[in-house]
Parts: sequence; C-alpha cells; structure tokens
Amino acid sequence: MKVLAAASEVFPLVKTGGLADVAGALPAALAGEGIAVTTLLPGYPAVMQAIAPTGTALELPDLFGGPARLLHATHRGLALLVLDAPHLFARPGGPYAGPDGRDWPDNALRFAGFAAAAARAARALAFDAVHAHDWQAGLAPAYIAAAGSGPRTLFTIHNLAFQGQFHASLFPALGLPPAFFATEGVEYHGGVGFLKAGLWHAARLSTVSPTYAAEVTTPEGGMGLDGLLRGRAGVLEGILNGLDTGEWNPATDRHLPAKFDAANLPARAANRAALRARLGLAEADAPVIGFVGRLSWQKGVDLLLHALPDGAQLALLGSGEPGLEHAARALAEANPGRVGAIIGYDEALARLVYAGCDIFAMPSRFEPCGLGQLCALRYGAPPVVAMTGGLADTVVNANEAALAQGAGTGLVHAPHSAPLLAAAFRRATALWRDRRPWAAMQRRGMAQDLSWARPAARYAATLRAL
Ligand code: ADP
Repeated sequence: MKVLAAASEVFPLVKTGGLADVAGALPAALAGEGIAVTTLLPGYPAVMQAIAPTGTALELPDLFGGPARLLHATHRGLALLVLDAPHLFARPGGPYAGPDGRDWPDNALRFAGFAAAAARAARALAFDAVHAHDWQAGLAPAYIAAAGSGPRTLFTIHNLAFQGQFHASLFPALGLPPAFFATEGVEYHGGVGFLKAGLWHAARLSTVSPTYAAEVTTPEGGMGLDGLLRGRAGVLEGILNGLDTGEWNPATDRHLPAKFDAANLPARAANRAALRARLGLAEADAPVIGFVGRLSWQKGVDLLLHALPDGAQLALLGSGEPGLEHAARALAEANPGRVGAIIGYDEALARLVYAGCDIFAMPSRFEPCGLGQLCALRYGAPPVVAMTGGLADTVVNANEAALAQGAGTGLVHAPHSAPLLAAAFRRATALWRDRRPWAAMQRRGMAQDLSWARPAARYAATLRAL
C-alpha cells in the first residue's frame, strides 16, 4: 500500500512541535506493517539545503502565484516529496512566521498551495491513500473531493487549538467550486476553516490519544468544533503517539554527560549535576523538577510557576508567550540557586533536563498526546501530569492503591489548579525522599513500551480500512 503523508514539519528537517516527531517517525514504523509512506513537506530553506533531490515528480506551473515543482528526495530513510515553491516557502524564519515571530500574512495561500500540491500528487502519482496532518494540510481532502476522484484521506488532529481560520474573502482565491463554501464544506463561522475542511472532507479522522479523542467531542474540549466532531464520532479514533526509541535512548544519547539505563540509575546523578551547573542551581538534598516545552497557557506554565513546593528546585527550558517568558525569568531571579530558567529552544539541553531532573512536570490544561512525558518516562524522570488527553493515557498514577500493587509511573492531578499541582509536587517530593519506591517507579516508567510498534499497527489498520 502506497500512502502520501502531508505534514508541514518533519523531524529532523524542520520542527516546532510534536507533529514533526510523529511525521518523522511514523513512516519507518508503517514500513514494518507493509505500508510505504512518502512524505510531502514544504521546501523551506532549511529543507532545500538539507536534501539532495533525485528528480522532479511533478511540475505545477502556477501554484497560487508562481511556478512550483515536487522534488523526489530521501533523507535519513524518509522518502520525501519536497514542494519547491520559492514564492511561498523560500523565506527566512520558521515554517509559519518570519524572523520577527509574526505569522506570514499569506499563510492561507502558502498552505492552500501545500494542500493543493498534495491533492495533485495523490492523484498523479497514484497513491492508495493520503494521511493529512493538522490545518496546514486540511484543504487536501477538499481539493481531492473537488477533483471528483482520488484516494481517500485519513486526517489527524495534533492540536485542535490551531485551526487555520481565515476571512471569507480568501475563498475565491482557493480555486474550489463555489458550492464548497458551505457548512457541508470548508465554511466555518462565516470564514474559511482549513482544519474544519479536513474534519469535514476526510474519510476518517484520528487524534493522538484516546482521551483527547473523547475530549474534542465535548463543548469544553472541542474548541467550537465539538458539534462537527460529535457528528463524525463514528469515524474518529484516538491513537497514541509513540516515541522514536532509537532517537530517545538514555543508554546511547550522545548529548548526555552520563549515559544510563534502568539497571544503572545512580549514573543519572552526573546528569543532574550537569543540569544544576547549567541552570545555576545549588547542589542540595532536594529533587529537581524539570519542565521542557512551549511557554503557553495550554501547558499550564502559569500554574507551574505558582506551585513550586519548599524543598524542591525547578529547571525550566522553553520559549513562547512573552509574559510567561518574563514570569519564568523573574521567578529565577527571585530564587537564585533554587529556580533556573533558560528561555530558548535547545534540543541538547532538553535531553539533559529529561536525563537530569528527578520529577518532570507537565501541568497542561489540555494535551492532545504530549511527548515530554514520554521522554521523561524513558529517561527515568517520573512525570507529574494533569489528568487530560494523552497525559491521562500514558502515566499511571502512583496513588496508595497503585503503589500497594507495585504499580504507578508518575503522579496525576486534576488540571487547571495550582494548589492541586502543588499537592502533587509535595507527594512526589515525599516519595522521592523515600528512595526505594521512587527508584521502582523510575524503572517501571523506563520499562513501559513507548515505541511506535503498537500505534503503527493501529494506523495501518485504519489506513487499510479507508
Ligand atoms: P507540543 O504541544 O509543543 O507539540 P509535545 O509535548 O507534544 O508538545 O512536543 C514537544 C516536543 O518539543 C518535545 O519533544 C520537547 O522535548 C520539544 N521541545 C519543546 N520545547 C522545547 C525547547 N524549548 N527546547 C527543546 N525542545 C523542546
């Protein structure tokens, strides 16, 4: 079976979040299921520099205002189609925003072009199915539907908060039939909704955890799309993300000062010392609580900054909303030696946080799947997480009953509450001080099967059933 995946970011070429990790890891896992994935991604400068094209798959003489072509390439085992469209993608900055951090004003046309190219490629190159990811690829199933024939699409939501919502005046430029500007089409709240288009036109839908798949059908979790998602609940499923366990392995991670595995947990101490040194934390008999992630309301960073218990340290790495960046810096300045904050994006330091912290915090208000807690489990840092989305599906709460049965891999608290988060931190700190149950918990987390094997089998079954 030949599947065309359409993703606006793919690790290791370009990454701003979890989507890139999924798009980068799933093809290898699906190969084991007999499914050959080719991934279409935009030709951003970083991508064009990294690839060595082996030929042109398709010419698109006029793609929303300029010539474009699809180039064949392979990169670290990934079969790629790169959309070389300089007028849309040859720009500095990130995939969605310029160097000043502001979204490109023509993002609608950039990703309409991306989706239209996916639809053209799916038909012209005779793919059996399309796997479209997030709003950037949301119009792909609409373009396939407009063409009247073509492969069927699985559309995966990685985060319902990013909807690709644009003004209705955009519609004529999209080149879709007028009838598509309707509730039964791409129209959403009087405008054009790219995510909505994907949710409406795709044959099947998935999101990245069973709990999030249920949450998005509720008014609280549906972000305005819950009605549509309730209507399509019969074709919506939750498939947990795996982790690239070759890429994320504390026994081989070259970024770590001390490699370790479950049989050699004391070796983690050298990583903690390096982490403390890097973040200006004192050597003390106190657990280091780690955080890595986008500094955003979603991630509950404001709660985290108010919930640090006495007798614990905080090591924070992230970037995002200016107010939260400022608050994190201010907390560090007010608590020298106890709170360390590095504002920025740093893959190597992230790995040191996972490998060196004692407790990993993820107090998200909502979390479709979350990769941070998976990395933390794998690197022996029991996570303290909010009971939402994929966090609820991947961390086993070590309450009294669980511990009595020799179970539990972290602590799970009710979301949206700094006091409940603080209580979870206090309990985690107390368990940490009682070293033996803590080490058992670390080992259970490290032994958890976080690989792509199980999720890949689920995706394969869904793609075959399209
Ligand atoms: P998101 O909602 O951002 O996709 P996930 O938890 O699903 O959140 O994925 C975040 C991924 O990005 C993780 O692999 C995490 O380690 C990484 N990450 C996030 N922020 C940073 C940062 N500031 N530096 C390095 N890695 C980061």
